[in-house]
Amino acid sequence: MKVLYPEHIPAFFTALASRFELRLPVMLSDGTRTIGSLEDGPIALMGGAVPGKPTAAFFPQQGPVFTAVEGAVLPSSDQANRLFVAGFTGRDIDCLRFIDRFFADGWRDDIYFRQRAGAVIAGVSGYCGPGGALLPLIGGGCDLEFVCDGKCWLVLTYSQAGEGIAAELPDTDAEEVLHQIRIESLTAANEGDELIQRASQLLRANRVPDSFWSEIGDRCISCTGCNLACPTCTCFGVQDWRYANNIERSRMWDSCQLDGFMREASGHNPLGSEALRTRRRIHHKLAADPERWGEISCFLCGRCDVVCPTGIGILAVAMEMVDRFEQETIR
Ligand code: SF4
Ligand code: SF4
Repeated sequence: MKVLYPEHIPAFFTALASRFELRLPVMLSDGTRTIGSLEDGPIALMGGAVPGKPTAAFFPQQGPVFTAVEGAVLPSSDQANRLFVAGFTGRDIDCLRFIDRFFADGWRDDIYFRQRAGAVIAGVSGYCGPGGALLPLIGGGCDLEFVCDGKCWLVLTYSQAGEGIAAELPDTDAEEVLHQIRIESLTAANEGDELIQRASQLLRANRVPDSFWSEIGDRCISCTGCNLACPTCTCFGVQDWRYANNIERSRMWDSCQLDGFMREASGHNPLGSEALRTRRRIHHKLAADPERWGEISCFLCGRCDVVCPTGIGILAVAMEMVDRFEQETIR
């Protein structure tokens, strides 16, 4: 097993930057952690899941589709270097696996895969959560994993690319520490899963009345934070930008909590109330996607519950559904 000592972190990533386009957790000048480049701020691997979605490396908030110059259409350019994206938690890796499936299905999304293909993914786990809390071990689904043992980072590799990156690091014999982290991870890894399954079953059995969605929808202020933070939200709109010498068509994240999300040209809006839009946000992840993809598309990364200013992230809503409607059936 390899090890990365804290004092070697800057040099390690600086060396990688000559081979990859780096995206990793950094601290901005205002104290926000985000996934950015070495130029954006000091490296900040500690602190748990970054607030922004790490999948934005491949599906950015705004990205070009093509540029038109004097009648000629030029596709969006390839990434100059392969991407190396670090900072995925175990839950984030599940989200990435899901959107890889989503973008590969049917019409394979070439814009997404131009960034994603060949990218190296690095997870983080161990005692690097908020205040040193445990982030469960990931154990695969990425190229390498940095496991914080409280003092340094044990480096586990799962692919040839991962092995190549870790090859120069010193060896360590820390099997016992890793074993302890693995044991602790077993309980932490499934937190919330049962609850979200039960909420999904309620929705799929049509046991959540419309009045519930009116109540929850009344609490939504359409800030869009939940969608913008969610690694498995993939809706986007298309916009043309006219510049002096060209026109750029780009796509931008959309939000199903916005009034205009499904509004049709006729003016008819199938999601014309906050109740319907909020129902749709939750129903999509917990009921529609299981039908379509065979799995719930919320992997409990926690971001929407952290970001929602009115407390109606998916876990909060799932808890309320289970509390209220499982009991009602029993009575
Ligand atoms: S917890 Fe919220 S933000 Fe995270 S995957 Fe689920 S719905 Fe998306
Ligand atoms: S974060 Fe909360 S208030 Fe904002 S759009 Fe989402 S559900 Fe509504």
